[in-house]
Amino acid sequence: MVAMRLAAIPSVDRILQDPRLEPAIARHGRSLVVAELRLLLDEHRGALKSGAAPAPAAELVAALLARLQVCARPSLRRVYNLTGTVLHTNLGRALLPAEAAQAAALVLVEPANLEYDLERGERGERDAHLEALLCRLTGAEAAIAVNNNAGAVLLALHALAHGREVPVSRGELVEIGGSFRIPDIVEAAGCRLREVGTTNRTHLRDYEKAIGPQTAAILKVHASNYAVVGFTAAPAEAELAALAHARGLAFVNDLGSGSLVDLTRWGLPAEPTPMGSLAAGADLVTFSGDKLLGGPQAGLIVGKRALVDKLRGNPLKRALRLDKARIGALESVLRLYLDPERLPERLPTLRLLTRTVADISALAERLRPALHRFCGAQTEVSVQPCVSQVGSGSLPVDRLPSAALRIASARLKPAAIAQALRALPIPVISRVHEDAVWLDLRCLEDEAGFAAQLQGQSL
Ligand SMILES: *Cc1c(COP(=O)(O)O)cnc(C)c1O
Repeated sequence: MVAMRLAAIPSVDRILQDPRLEPAIARHGRSLVVAELRLLLDEHRGALKSGAAPAPAAELVAALLARLQVCARPSLRRVYNLTGTVLHTNLGRALLPAEAAQAAALVLVEPANLEYDLERGERGERDAHLEALLCRLTGAEAAIAVNNNAGAVLLALHALAHGREVPVSRGELVEIGGSFRIPDIVEAAGCRLREVGTTNRTHLRDYEKAIGPQTAAILKVHASNYAVVGFTAAPAEAELAALAHARGLAFVNDLGSGSLVDLTRWGLPAEPTPMGSLAAGADLVTFSGDKLLGGPQAGLIVGKRALVDKLRGNPLKRALRLDKARIGALESVLRLYLDPERLPERLPTLRLLTRTVADISALAERLRPALHRFCGAQTEVSVQPCVSQVGSGSLPVDRLPSAALRIASARLKPAAIAQALRALPIPVISRVHEDAVWLDLRCLEDEAGFAAQLQGQSL
Protein backbone atom coordinates (compact mmCIF):
# COMPACT_ATOMS: atom_id res chain seq x y z
CA MET A 1 0.00 0.00 0.00
CA VAL A 2 2.64 2.47 1.11
CA ALA A 3 4.88 1.44 -1.80
CA MET A 4 2.06 2.13 -4.23
CA ARG A 5 1.35 5.51 -2.71
CA LEU A 6 5.04 6.41 -2.80
CA ALA A 7 5.28 5.37 -6.44
CA ALA A 8 2.39 7.71 -7.23
CA ILE A 9 4.35 10.83 -6.18
CA PRO A 10 5.00 12.90 -9.31
CA SER A 11 8.66 13.22 -10.28
CA VAL A 12 10.69 16.40 -9.81
CA ASP A 13 10.88 16.87 -13.57
CA ARG A 14 7.16 16.48 -14.06
CA ILE A 15 6.31 19.03 -11.40
CA LEU A 16 8.88 21.49 -12.78
CA GLN A 17 7.03 21.46 -16.11
CA ASP A 18 3.96 22.98 -14.47
CA PRO A 19 3.50 26.39 -16.14
CA ARG A 20 2.56 28.00 -12.80
CA LEU A 21 6.19 27.53 -11.72
CA GLU A 22 7.62 29.54 -14.62
CA PRO A 23 7.43 32.95 -12.88
CA ALA A 24 8.85 31.39 -9.71
CA ILE A 25 11.82 29.96 -11.63
CA ALA A 26 12.38 33.35 -13.28
CA ARG A 27 12.31 35.07 -9.90
CA HIS A 28 14.20 32.69 -7.61
CA GLY A 29 16.36 30.75 -10.11
CA ARG A 30 16.07 27.09 -11.03
CA SER A 31 18.47 25.83 -8.34
CA LEU A 32 16.47 27.17 -5.42
CA VAL A 33 13.17 25.97 -6.88
CA VAL A 34 14.57 22.43 -7.42
CA ALA A 35 16.13 22.38 -3.92
CA GLU A 36 12.87 23.45 -2.26
CA LEU A 37 10.89 20.98 -4.36
CA ARG A 38 13.17 18.12 -3.27
CA LEU A 39 12.67 19.11 0.39
CA LEU A 40 8.92 19.28 -0.15
CA LEU A 41 8.79 15.85 -1.80
CA ASP A 42 10.94 14.36 1.00
CA GLU A 43 8.46 15.68 3.55
CA HIS A 44 5.56 14.36 1.49
CA ARG A 45 7.17 10.93 1.29
CA GLY A 46 7.51 10.96 5.08
CA ALA A 47 3.84 11.89 5.46
CA LEU A 48 2.74 9.10 3.14
CA LYS A 49 4.72 6.56 5.16
CA SER A 50 2.83 7.62 8.26
CA GLY A 51 -0.48 7.12 6.50
CA ALA A 52 -1.31 10.46 4.86
CA ALA A 53 -3.18 10.57 1.58
CA PRO A 54 -1.18 11.36 -1.58
CA ALA A 55 -1.39 15.03 -2.63
CA PRO A 56 -2.35 15.84 -6.22
CA ALA A 57 0.33 17.56 -8.31
CA ALA A 58 -1.56 20.89 -8.18
CA GLU A 59 -1.46 20.84 -4.40
CA LEU A 60 2.27 20.16 -4.41
CA VAL A 61 2.83 23.10 -6.76
CA ALA A 62 0.82 25.41 -4.51
CA ALA A 63 2.80 24.21 -1.47
CA LEU A 64 6.06 24.80 -3.35
CA LEU A 65 5.04 28.36 -4.27
CA ALA A 66 4.20 29.08 -0.63
CA ARG A 67 7.57 27.67 0.49
CA LEU A 68 9.42 29.79 -2.04
CA GLN A 69 7.67 32.90 -0.80
CA VAL A 70 8.79 32.23 2.77
CA CYS A 71 12.29 31.44 1.50
CA ALA A 72 12.57 34.74 -0.37
CA ARG A 73 11.33 36.85 2.51
CA PRO A 74 14.24 38.64 4.22
CA SER A 75 14.86 37.65 7.82
CA LEU A 76 15.72 41.20 8.88
CA ARG A 77 12.65 43.28 8.18
CA ARG A 78 11.14 46.64 8.85
CA VAL A 79 8.53 46.74 11.65
CA TYR A 80 6.31 49.32 13.34
CA ASN A 81 7.61 49.94 16.85
CA LEU A 82 4.44 50.70 18.82
CA THR A 83 5.84 49.41 22.10
CA GLY A 84 6.20 52.89 23.58
CA THR A 85 9.96 52.39 24.02
CA VAL A 86 11.66 54.87 21.72
CA LEU A 87 15.20 53.42 21.79
CA HIS A 88 14.17 49.75 21.70
CA THR A 89 17.32 47.60 21.64
CA ASN A 90 15.50 44.59 20.14
CA LEU A 91 13.95 46.78 17.45
CA GLY A 92 17.16 48.46 16.35
CA ARG A 93 17.49 51.44 18.74
CA ALA A 94 17.97 54.88 17.14
CA LEU A 95 16.55 55.54 13.67
CA LEU A 96 18.83 57.44 11.34
CA PRO A 97 17.90 60.62 9.49
CA ALA A 98 17.58 59.97 5.74
CA GLU A 99 20.78 61.89 4.93
CA ALA A 100 22.79 59.70 7.30
CA ALA A 101 21.42 56.56 5.68
CA GLN A 102 22.30 58.03 2.26
CA ALA A 103 25.83 58.83 3.41
CA ALA A 104 26.20 55.19 4.50
CA ALA A 105 24.70 53.84 1.29
CA LEU A 106 26.99 55.96 -0.90
CA VAL A 107 30.23 54.63 0.60
CA LEU A 108 28.88 51.07 0.49
CA VAL A 109 28.42 51.13 -3.27
CA GLU A 110 31.30 53.47 -4.24
CA PRO A 111 34.97 53.67 -3.21
CA ALA A 112 35.70 56.23 -0.49
CA ASN A 113 38.64 57.93 1.23
CA LEU A 114 38.09 55.74 4.29
CA GLU A 115 41.78 55.50 5.20
CA TYR A 116 43.21 57.85 2.61
CA ASP A 117 44.49 61.40 3.00
CA LEU A 118 43.24 63.20 -0.10
CA GLU A 119 45.57 66.18 0.34
CA ARG A 120 48.79 64.24 0.68
CA GLY A 121 47.76 61.28 -1.45
CA GLU A 122 48.78 58.74 1.15
CA ARG A 123 47.40 56.45 3.81
CA GLY A 124 45.14 58.18 6.32
CA GLU A 125 43.16 57.38 9.49
CA ARG A 126 39.58 56.10 9.47
CA ASP A 127 38.83 57.91 12.73
CA ALA A 128 39.86 61.23 11.15
CA HIS A 129 36.35 61.55 9.67
CA LEU A 130 34.89 61.71 13.17
CA GLU A 131 37.62 62.99 15.46
CA ALA A 132 37.51 66.71 14.74
CA LEU A 133 33.71 66.75 14.98
CA LEU A 134 33.66 64.79 18.24
CA CYS A 135 36.32 67.07 19.75
CA ARG A 136 34.43 70.17 18.67
CA LEU A 137 31.14 68.88 20.10
CA THR A 138 32.51 67.57 23.41
CA GLY A 139 35.53 69.80 24.05
CA ALA A 140 37.81 66.72 24.12
CA GLU A 141 41.44 66.70 22.94
CA ALA A 142 41.04 63.47 20.99
CA ALA A 143 38.45 60.89 20.02
CA ILE A 144 38.07 57.44 18.47
CA ALA A 145 35.14 55.24 17.57
CA VAL A 146 34.63 51.49 17.83
CA ASN A 147 31.88 48.92 17.25
CA ASN A 148 29.73 49.75 20.29
CA ASN A 149 30.00 51.10 23.82
CA ALA A 150 30.66 47.65 25.27
CA GLY A 151 33.65 47.53 22.90
CA ALA A 152 34.68 51.04 23.98
CA VAL A 153 34.78 50.03 27.67
CA LEU A 154 36.59 46.79 26.83
CA LEU A 155 39.20 48.63 24.76
CA ALA A 156 39.74 51.38 27.35
CA LEU A 157 40.23 48.87 30.17
CA HIS A 158 42.45 46.57 28.10
CA ALA A 159 44.67 49.41 26.93
CA LEU A 160 44.99 51.17 30.29
CA ALA A 161 44.67 48.47 32.95
CA HIS A 162 45.42 45.00 31.51
CA GLY A 163 46.81 42.77 34.26
CA ARG A 164 46.07 45.37 36.93
CA GLU A 165 43.29 46.43 39.26
CA VAL A 166 40.26 48.61 38.54
CA PRO A 167 38.14 49.87 41.45
CA VAL A 168 34.40 50.19 40.71
CA SER A 169 31.65 51.19 43.15
CA ARG A 170 29.35 48.31 44.19
CA GLY A 171 26.45 50.57 43.26
CA GLU A 172 27.68 50.68 39.66
CA LEU A 173 28.26 47.00 38.85
CA VAL A 174 25.50 47.11 36.29
CA GLU A 175 24.05 44.61 33.89
CA ILE A 176 22.88 46.33 30.73
CA GLY A 177 21.01 43.38 29.25
CA GLY A 178 22.08 40.78 26.77
CA SER A 179 25.43 39.78 28.20
CA PHE A 180 26.94 43.12 29.14
CA ARG A 181 27.85 43.05 32.81
CA ILE A 182 30.52 45.34 34.15
CA PRO A 183 32.29 42.60 36.20
CA ASP A 184 32.46 40.39 33.09
CA ILE A 185 33.78 43.18 30.87
CA VAL A 186 36.45 44.09 33.43
CA GLU A 187 37.51 40.43 33.53
CA ALA A 188 37.39 40.03 29.75
CA ALA A 189 39.70 43.05 29.47
CA GLY A 190 42.21 41.14 31.59
CA CYS A 191 41.76 43.39 34.63
CA ARG A 192 40.94 42.57 38.24
CA LEU A 193 37.78 44.17 39.54
CA ARG A 194 38.15 45.80 42.94
CA GLU A 195 34.68 46.33 44.40
CA VAL A 196 34.36 49.54 46.36
CA GLY A 197 31.80 50.72 48.95
CA THR A 198 28.29 49.32 49.18
CA THR A 199 25.27 49.04 46.90
CA ASN A 200 23.65 52.26 48.08
CA ARG A 201 26.54 54.27 49.51
CA THR A 202 30.10 54.62 48.32
CA HIS A 203 32.41 57.35 49.63
CA LEU A 204 35.64 58.86 48.39
CA ARG A 205 37.48 57.24 51.31
CA ASP A 206 36.33 53.82 50.04
CA TYR A 207 38.15 54.49 46.77
CA GLU A 208 41.17 55.86 48.66
CA LYS A 209 41.42 52.63 50.65
CA ALA A 210 41.04 50.46 47.55
CA ILE A 211 43.87 52.11 45.62
CA GLY A 212 47.20 50.29 45.81
CA PRO A 213 50.30 49.64 43.72
CA GLN A 214 48.28 47.35 41.42
CA THR A 215 45.61 49.95 40.61
CA ALA A 216 45.65 51.29 37.05
CA ALA A 217 42.44 53.24 36.59
CA ILE A 218 39.23 54.22 38.36
CA LEU A 219 36.11 53.24 36.42
CA LYS A 220 32.81 55.01 36.94
CA VAL A 221 29.72 53.53 35.31
CA HIS A 222 26.52 55.46 34.77
CA ALA A 223 23.60 53.57 36.36
CA SER A 224 21.71 53.84 33.11
CA ASN A 225 18.88 51.34 33.48
CA TYR A 226 18.04 51.65 37.17
CA ALA A 227 18.08 54.24 39.92
CA VAL A 228 19.41 53.99 43.44
CA VAL A 229 17.16 56.19 45.55
CA GLY A 230 16.80 56.88 49.27
CA PHE A 231 19.83 56.67 51.56
CA THR A 232 22.52 56.95 48.90
CA ALA A 233 25.93 58.51 48.38
CA ALA A 234 28.53 58.61 45.65
CA PRO A 235 31.53 60.91 45.27
CA ALA A 236 31.25 63.67 42.68
CA GLU A 237 33.06 63.05 39.39
CA ALA A 238 35.42 65.96 40.13
CA GLU A 239 36.42 64.33 43.44
CA LEU A 240 37.08 61.00 41.74
CA ALA A 241 39.10 62.73 39.02
CA ALA A 242 41.17 64.61 41.58
CA LEU A 243 41.84 61.41 43.54
CA ALA A 244 42.80 59.48 40.40
CA HIS A 245 45.18 62.22 39.26
CA ALA A 246 46.77 62.61 42.70
CA ARG A 247 47.61 58.89 42.59
CA GLY A 248 48.75 58.90 38.96
CA LEU A 249 45.72 56.91 37.73
CA ALA A 250 43.40 57.34 34.78
CA PHE A 251 39.75 58.17 35.46
CA VAL A 252 37.40 56.52 32.96
CA ASN A 253 33.69 57.28 32.90
CA ASP A 254 31.30 54.95 31.05
CA LEU A 255 28.32 57.22 30.43
CA GLY A 256 26.28 54.59 28.60
CA SER A 257 23.94 56.78 26.62
CA GLY A 258 25.42 60.21 26.96
CA SER A 259 23.75 63.06 25.19
CA LEU A 260 25.64 65.63 23.15
CA VAL A 261 23.11 68.34 24.05
CA ASP A 262 21.31 69.41 27.20
CA LEU A 263 17.96 67.67 26.75
CA THR A 264 16.21 69.85 29.33
CA ARG A 265 16.01 72.68 26.76
CA TRP A 266 13.26 70.63 25.10
CA GLY A 267 11.54 69.74 28.36
CA LEU A 268 13.13 66.30 28.53
CA PRO A 269 14.78 64.91 31.67
CA ALA A 270 18.49 65.66 32.15
CA GLU A 271 20.99 63.05 30.96
CA PRO A 272 24.71 63.35 31.76
CA THR A 273 26.85 64.62 28.86
CA PRO A 274 30.41 63.79 27.83
CA MET A 275 31.10 67.55 27.94
CA GLY A 276 30.10 67.69 31.60
CA SER A 277 32.14 64.63 32.47
CA LEU A 278 35.27 65.92 30.71
CA ALA A 279 34.85 69.30 32.40
CA ALA A 280 34.69 67.50 35.75
CA GLY A 281 38.08 65.96 35.00
CA ALA A 282 37.40 62.56 33.39
CA ASP A 283 40.35 61.38 31.29
CA LEU A 284 38.25 59.19 29.01
CA VAL A 285 34.48 59.14 28.51
CA THR A 286 32.73 56.34 26.61
CA PHE A 287 29.18 56.40 25.21
CA SER A 288 26.96 54.74 22.61
CA GLY A 289 26.27 56.00 19.11
CA ASP A 290 22.74 54.57 18.87
CA LYS A 291 21.19 55.62 22.17
CA LEU A 292 20.28 59.26 22.85
CA LEU A 293 22.87 60.47 20.35
CA GLY A 294 20.54 59.13 17.66
CA GLY A 295 23.16 57.69 15.31
CA PRO A 296 24.24 54.22 14.15
CA GLN A 297 25.58 51.54 16.49
CA ALA A 298 28.99 52.72 17.67
CA GLY A 299 31.07 53.19 20.79
CA LEU A 300 32.62 56.63 21.14
CA ILE A 301 35.64 57.39 23.29
CA VAL A 302 36.64 60.99 23.93
CA GLY A 303 39.30 62.46 26.21
CA LYS A 304 43.02 63.08 26.75
CA ARG A 305 45.16 62.73 23.64
CA ALA A 306 47.87 60.57 25.26
CA LEU A 307 45.30 58.03 26.46
CA VAL A 308 43.29 58.02 23.23
CA ASP A 309 46.57 57.39 21.36
CA LYS A 310 47.26 54.45 23.66
CA LEU A 311 43.82 52.99 22.77
CA ARG A 312 44.46 53.64 19.09
CA GLY A 313 47.62 51.53 19.20
CA ASN A 314 45.98 48.61 21.02
CA PRO A 315 45.36 45.46 18.93
CA LEU A 316 41.74 45.34 20.14
CA LYS A 317 41.13 48.65 18.34
CA ARG A 318 41.58 46.85 15.02
CA ALA A 319 39.27 44.05 16.13
CA LEU A 320 36.60 46.50 17.26
CA ARG A 321 36.91 49.14 14.55
CA LEU A 322 33.93 50.78 12.95
CA ASP A 323 33.05 50.00 9.33
CA LYS A 324 32.83 52.67 6.62
CA ALA A 325 29.03 52.68 6.39
CA ARG A 326 28.63 53.53 10.04
CA ILE A 327 31.46 56.09 9.91
CA GLY A 328 29.58 57.80 7.08
CA ALA A 329 26.28 57.70 8.96
CA LEU A 330 27.83 58.84 12.23
CA GLU A 331 29.64 61.76 10.62
CA SER A 332 26.36 62.85 9.06
CA VAL A 333 24.51 62.68 12.40
CA LEU A 334 27.30 64.48 14.29
CA ARG A 335 27.12 67.31 11.74
CA LEU A 336 23.47 67.87 12.70
CA TYR A 337 24.67 68.71 16.21
CA LEU A 338 26.52 71.75 14.83
CA ASP A 339 23.04 73.31 14.52
CA PRO A 340 21.38 72.25 17.79
CA GLU A 341 18.36 74.55 17.36
CA ARG A 342 17.08 72.49 14.46
CA LEU A 343 17.91 69.07 15.98
CA PRO A 344 14.33 68.16 17.02
CA GLU A 345 13.18 68.45 13.39
CA ARG A 346 16.17 66.71 11.86
CA LEU A 347 17.14 63.94 14.27
CA PRO A 348 14.45 61.22 14.45
CA THR A 349 15.30 60.20 18.05
CA LEU A 350 14.82 63.73 19.32
CA ARG A 351 11.79 64.27 17.07
CA LEU A 352 10.08 61.22 18.60
CA LEU A 353 11.07 62.09 22.16
CA THR A 354 9.73 65.64 21.85
CA ARG A 355 6.47 64.72 20.09
CA THR A 356 3.52 66.26 21.93
CA VAL A 357 0.64 64.28 23.45
CA ALA A 358 -1.77 66.43 21.41
CA ASP A 359 -0.08 65.35 18.19
CA ILE A 360 -0.01 61.66 19.18
CA SER A 361 -3.65 61.73 20.40
CA ALA A 362 -4.84 63.30 17.15
CA LEU A 363 -3.03 60.55 15.22
CA ALA A 364 -4.71 57.91 17.42
CA GLU A 365 -8.16 59.44 16.77
CA ARG A 366 -7.53 59.41 13.01
CA LEU A 367 -6.43 55.76 12.99
CA ARG A 368 -9.04 54.43 15.40
CA PRO A 369 -11.81 53.74 12.82
CA ALA A 370 -9.47 51.79 10.49
CA LEU A 371 -8.12 49.73 13.37
CA HIS A 372 -11.62 49.09 14.68
CA ARG A 373 -12.70 47.81 11.24
CA PHE A 374 -9.61 45.58 11.14
CA CYS A 375 -10.36 44.17 14.60
CA GLY A 376 -13.99 43.37 13.75
CA ALA A 377 -16.93 42.49 15.96
CA GLN A 378 -16.82 42.08 19.75
CA THR A 379 -13.67 44.16 19.89
CA GLU A 380 -13.32 47.55 21.47
CA VAL A 381 -10.72 50.00 20.18
CA SER A 382 -10.25 53.16 22.23
CA VAL A 383 -7.82 56.06 22.47
CA GLN A 384 -6.16 56.05 25.89
CA PRO A 385 -3.47 58.05 27.62
CA CYS A 386 -0.28 56.06 28.24
CA VAL A 387 3.39 56.65 29.00
CA SER A 388 6.35 56.05 26.70
CA GLN A 389 9.88 55.44 27.87
CA VAL A 390 13.20 56.38 26.34
CA GLY A 391 14.67 52.88 26.49
CA SER A 392 18.14 51.40 25.98
CA GLY A 393 19.10 52.22 29.52
CA SER A 394 18.61 55.95 29.09
CA LEU A 395 16.67 57.93 31.68
CA PRO A 396 15.29 54.75 33.31
CA VAL A 397 12.76 56.28 35.67
CA ASP A 398 11.46 59.09 33.51
CA ARG A 399 8.26 58.60 31.53
CA LEU A 400 6.90 60.62 28.64
CA PRO A 401 3.12 61.15 28.48
CA SER A 402 1.75 59.69 25.24
CA ALA A 403 -1.41 58.26 23.65
CA ALA A 404 -2.27 54.71 22.63
CA LEU A 405 -4.87 52.72 20.75
CA ARG A 406 -6.09 50.08 23.19
CA ILE A 407 -7.59 46.87 21.79
CA ALA A 408 -9.74 44.73 24.07
CA SER A 409 -11.66 41.80 22.63
CA ALA A 410 -14.29 39.42 24.00
CA ARG A 411 -13.39 37.03 21.19
CA LEU A 412 -9.58 36.92 21.22
CA LYS A 413 -6.91 36.86 23.89
CA PRO A 414 -4.47 39.80 23.86
CA ALA A 415 -1.58 37.49 22.96
CA ALA A 416 -3.49 36.27 19.89
CA ILE A 417 -4.20 39.85 18.79
CA ALA A 418 -0.56 40.80 19.28
CA GLN A 419 0.46 37.78 17.21
CA ALA A 420 -1.93 38.70 14.39
CA LEU A 421 -0.49 42.22 14.36
CA ARG A 422 3.01 40.74 14.05
CA ALA A 423 1.86 38.66 11.07
CA LEU A 424 0.97 41.74 8.99
CA PRO A 425 3.22 42.48 5.95
CA ILE A 426 4.98 45.15 8.02
CA PRO A 427 4.82 43.53 11.48
CA VAL A 428 3.30 45.72 14.19
CA ILE A 429 5.00 45.29 17.57
CA SER A 430 2.62 46.14 20.41
CA ARG A 431 2.52 45.78 24.17
CA VAL A 432 0.15 43.55 26.16
CA HIS A 433 -0.88 45.17 29.41
CA GLU A 434 -3.80 44.47 31.77
CA ASP A 435 -5.65 42.11 29.43
CA ALA A 436 -5.50 44.41 26.42
CA VAL A 437 -3.20 45.22 23.52
CA TRP A 438 -1.71 48.72 23.55
CA LEU A 439 -0.34 50.51 20.51
CA ASP A 440 1.62 53.56 21.73
CA LEU A 441 1.68 55.81 18.68
CA ARG A 442 4.63 58.00 19.72
CA CYS A 443 6.93 56.25 17.24
CA LEU A 444 4.44 55.96 14.37
CA GLU A 445 5.36 58.46 11.66
CA ASP A 446 4.24 56.45 8.62
CA GLU A 447 0.52 56.97 9.18
CA ALA A 448 -0.44 56.23 5.56
CA GLY A 449 1.54 52.97 5.41
CA PHE A 450 0.12 51.79 8.71
CA ALA A 451 -3.46 52.51 7.66
CA ALA A 452 -2.95 51.01 4.20
CA GLN A 453 -1.93 47.59 5.47
CA LEU A 454 -5.02 47.37 7.71
CA GLN A 455 -7.28 47.79 4.67
CA GLY A 456 -8.85 44.65 3.32
CA GLN A 457 -7.43 42.62 6.24
CA SER A 458 -9.02 41.55 9.46
CA LEU A 459 -8.12 39.94 12.73
C1 LIG B 1 24.20 50.75 26.98
C2 LIG B 1 25.37 50.77 27.86
C3 LIG B 1 26.53 50.06 27.53
C4 LIG B 1 26.63 49.22 26.29
O1 LIG B 1 26.56 50.02 25.16
P1 LIG B 1 26.37 49.35 23.72
O2 LIG B 1 26.55 50.50 22.77
O3 LIG B 1 25.02 48.75 23.70
O4 LIG B 1 27.44 48.33 23.57
C5 LIG B 1 27.60 50.12 28.40
N1 LIG B 1 27.54 50.84 29.54
C6 LIG B 1 26.43 51.52 29.90
C7 LIG B 1 26.45 52.27 31.19
C8 LIG B 1 25.32 51.51 29.07
O5 LIG B 1 24.21 52.19 29.41
